[in-house]
Amino acid sequence: MNGEWFDIVVAGAGPAGLAAACVAAQEGARVAVLDDNPRAGGQIWRNGPVHPPAAALAAQLQAIGARGNVTLALSTRIVASLDERRLLIESAQRGGARIGYRRLILATGARELLLPFEGWTLPGVTGAGGLQALIKGGVPVRGERVVIAGSGPLLLASLATARAAGAQVVAVVEQAAWMAVLRFGLSLAATPAKLVQAAQLTRGFAGLAWLTSSVVRAAQGNGRVERAVIERADGRIESIDCERIACGYGLVPNATLAHTLGCATRDDGAIVVDDAQRTTVDDVFAAGECTGVGGMELAQVEGRIAGLRALGIERDARIDALVSEREHWRRFATRVETAFALRGLARRLPADDTLLCRCEDVSVGEVRAHACWRDAKLHTRCGMGACQGRICGGAVQALFGWDIAQGRPPISPAQIGTLMLADDTATDAG
Ligand SMILES: Cc1cc2nc3c(=O)[nH]c(=O)nc-3n(C[C@H](O)[C@H](O)[C@H](O)COP(=O)(O)OP(=O)(O)OC[C@H]3O[C@@H](n4cnc5c(N)ncnc54)[C@H](O)[C@@H]3O)c2cc1C
Repeated sequence: MNGEWFDIVVAGAGPAGLAAACVAAQEGARVAVLDDNPRAGGQIWRNGPVHPPAAALAAQLQAIGARGNVTLALSTRIVASLDERRLLIESAQRGGARIGYRRLILATGARELLLPFEGWTLPGVTGAGGLQALIKGGVPVRGERVVIAGSGPLLLASLATARAAGAQVVAVVEQAAWMAVLRFGLSLAATPAKLVQAAQLTRGFAGLAWLTSSVVRAAQGNGRVERAVIERADGRIESIDCERIACGYGLVPNATLAHTLGCATRDDGAIVVDDAQRTTVDDVFAAGECTGVGGMELAQVEGRIAGLRALGIERDARIDALVSEREHWRRFATRVETAFALRGLARRLPADDTLLCRCEDVSVGEVRAHACWRDAKLHTRCGMGACQGRICGGAVQALFGWDIAQGRPPISPAQIGTLMLADDTATDAG
């Protein structure tokens, strides 16, 4: 692949990226889809050795595979953007390479928002989506008692996955208030498909504690999780015995690559796009949850629009239909955002000695002593470890309101041989 040029390069093989690639390929464009995961599907269609691909994913992959004009490069991460519409990439099998594009579509999705609490680094504590990913990757949880916590619809998806894998979910702990969740539930009438999905995911909800206006304050145990300490809105503290705590406070757009390209982002971290899914940088489009968290359906519609518009197709009947579908799912996204907006209870700072940056061992107190993200990074190395702030960056944004937009390549650790390819005097044949 080194030195190859494509009409369209798509960053991310989740619902948005695959939808964009499908429509662009149907129009005859030469397309490359890159994803750092070993399997296509992104987050919602994540699959693994004991978790076969969803039917919708299989259909997309078949449609893509049936055409000879799409290169699907998995286990391949984009580590930097170079000048002249080129990207520096690294494949787990083939090492580093440079590829070029006429148009780039960012479909890099979202990340789970993890907020630190006492004991959150104990073995057995994961994100809510993180637990799903582990289960789909083959981690056994049968018979384990699990507390699922945080906020938003992902808790229900995690509940269903954990139960299907034989875990005993003992409690779902939601920071949003009961009334907000109820209003959201009623609003699902406007999206019948989501209503059915919610009914399926919550099947058998009876039999577990479902706590609203509540948060996990601590994970306790000797060497690994043995109990979750929960704080209720009225200040009551309860302990629940468990072997796992899966805690995630919704999602934050993954705009790291967009920042290195110079694309503008909003206050909530989402990439700014216009009606055609164009970013503020020429020939760079974006679709899916990197442009705002809104679920799979919205991601797919945006991907299709981006794929067509990136080929220079102006408004036609297809695009008009997609635009009205996008409005429908954007309204759903707004309802989710309103119902599960983070409240004071979840935003309360944990004790100063709680670890905030687990890569570099930096505590909440050490970070709090600084005025902004840049200062904190320079003085404490917070966010400068292996994950490059992917976890603590979201937390400081939510807890301190700091701007964490960063645009410095490489955006992930890379081999020296790969980084050397960034030098223009290195040959493309290398
Ligand atoms: C952990 C987690 C679990 C989730 N589980 C569910 C669920 O069960 N049900 C549900 O309805 N929704 C779930 N969601 C929400 C889900 O993200 C969306 O509904 C949907 O997957 C969004 O599609 P997307 O294409 O925008 O992004 P994603 O599906 O997130 O796809 C983006 C892809 O881009 C890749 N990528 C990012 N940066 C790079 C790079 N630099 N180089 C190469 N590849 C890159 C990512 O690895 C990912 O595979 C989950 C989200 C998360 C974070």
